[in-house]
Amino acid sequence: MPKHLIVIGGGFAGMSAAAYLAASGRKVTLLEKNTTLGGRARQLQARGFTFDMGPSWYWMPEVFEAFFEDFGFRRADLYPLQRLDPSYRVVFEEGELDLSADYPTLKAQLEAIQPGSTARLDAFLHEARTKYELAMRDFIHLPNLSFLEYLRPSFLRALGKLSLFSNFRRYRRRFIPDGPVGQIMDFPILFLGGVAENTPALYSMMNYVDIGLGTWYPEGGMYRIVEGMRTVLGHVGVSIHTGAEVKGFAMEGGRVRGVKLEGETLPCDGVVAAGDYAAIEGMLPKHLRNYPPAYWERKTFAPSALLLYLGFDRRLPNLQHHNLFFDVPFAAHVEALYHRPAYPEKCLFYLCCPSKTDPTVAPQGAENVFVLVPLSTHLPPDGERERGLIRQVLQRLSARCGFDVQGHLVFRKKYNRNDFIADYHAFKGNAYGLANTLLQTGPLRPHLRNRKLRNLFYAGQLTVPGPGVPPAIISGKIAATLAASEIK
Ligand SMILES: Cc1cc2nc3c(=O)[nH]c(=O)nc-3n(C[C@H](O)[C@H](O)[C@H](O)COP(=O)(O)OP(=O)(O)OC[C@H]3O[C@@H](n4cnc5c(N)ncnc54)[C@H](O)[C@@H]3O)c2cc1C
Repeated sequence: MPKHLIVIGGGFAGMSAAAYLAASGRKVTLLEKNTTLGGRARQLQARGFTFDMGPSWYWMPEVFEAFFEDFGFRRADLYPLQRLDPSYRVVFEEGELDLSADYPTLKAQLEAIQPGSTARLDAFLHEARTKYELAMRDFIHLPNLSFLEYLRPSFLRALGKLSLFSNFRRYRRRFIPDGPVGQIMDFPILFLGGVAENTPALYSMMNYVDIGLGTWYPEGGMYRIVEGMRTVLGHVGVSIHTGAEVKGFAMEGGRVRGVKLEGETLPCDGVVAAGDYAAIEGMLPKHLRNYPPAYWERKTFAPSALLLYLGFDRRLPNLQHHNLFFDVPFAAHVEALYHRPAYPEKCLFYLCCPSKTDPTVAPQGAENVFVLVPLSTHLPPDGERERGLIRQVLQRLSARCGFDVQGHLVFRKKYNRNDFIADYHAFKGNAYGLANTLLQTGPLRPHLRNRKLRNLFYAGQLTVPGPGVPPAIISGKIAATLAASEIK
């Protein structure tokens, strides 16, 4: 009889873990509390619009290619992909820039908006690429259970190139001065849930991901990845149960013997828990948790967010697919996010308009818009403040479009911190996990293995390698490998 493993959570990490475990010959049951797979990347369909509810930046395409190839699939047979050009637009307090996907053109654009800023851009990106390639080849798949994993010749040889002990901001300034170009280089760090000051310079690799590898779009939207992974799960024989919320564990003799659902216990030989780590541990008795509640309180989480899914009955001019509204002071919003939690007076926001690229996500002649305003995880939702932010976003969008967009709004849905908690059991409503700060990187992140229950493993954006769709997929693979080595 093959061993039976249960995977909790149908986000990218859980789907990835389930696929690898099933392919290794285990019987696998995937339990997801929501009615569809995808986790933070679920889909919302309304009034002819198709919204991706979470991620919209398809970065690190090789991770997706590798995942599908591991199961004998070609990504291209599952969904078509196109590279966006321009990659994205940044709106500054003064002016804006559409970042070309062609490096020489981009470099000239950057030099034009900030003369002298690109003198060392090649060197900066060369180091970024070196870090990325080393990480992908040697480190990203490590379980990070101990620093000893890094006592390997390839890591020791590379140590000098990884800038482990500097923060990103300080490091970036050695190559690129502050100003609009510096701000563009700091932007990819936001994906890691932190800011340039508290993120290790190692992550300048994200600048290579951005500029070197590019921004891509799966036709039909990010949910196509979820559908592709679901195809893989079917192929390897994973039994998928949606609407199946795990409420607790049955344990005996230092092992998990089953997971508890409403009214029943499913027996199993092991578990990979790929829901939010803190909530999963909250279902264990205190003495069997890896971390006490105070641990999570001390951690730096990626922000929560106010999200808007907006459908307009006409095209909106003067937008690209990805638009970063950095047209208000950056530092004040960052202060409100991480240091003095508050609703920002003037908010930075990200606006995605996928109908600029893809006619299938909106009715003909209409526009599909997703807005993300990052907010501190320490702020309880406040209807009045949220309405103020929404007004602000729509006013700035109207100013950009040259007419009052509100008169053309035919669909509007708001999503906030409470929704993250209700839908994903997200600790304090974090949107994308635990930030990759200096003290929350590698072995310093929550461990993939429960130290007291030998057959309980964790995966997902709160573990290694960190937040983001590609890291979540990798995390599932690492956890599955660990679980498979334990549960034979
Ligand atoms: C608004 C937003 C924008 C983002 N933008 C990007 C982007 O552009 N590019 C990018 O790469 N990344 C982006 N991210 C981050 C990325 O989406 C996440 O890091 C990734 O999807 C996390 O995957 P996961 O599997 O770790 O967690 P999740 O997606 O949260 O999956 C965990 C699953 O576990 C389920 N679950 C939890 N508890 C239980 C339980 N008790 N029983 C059963 N099921 C349970 C949850 O319902 C959920 O489906 C974004 C995230 C958000 C929220």
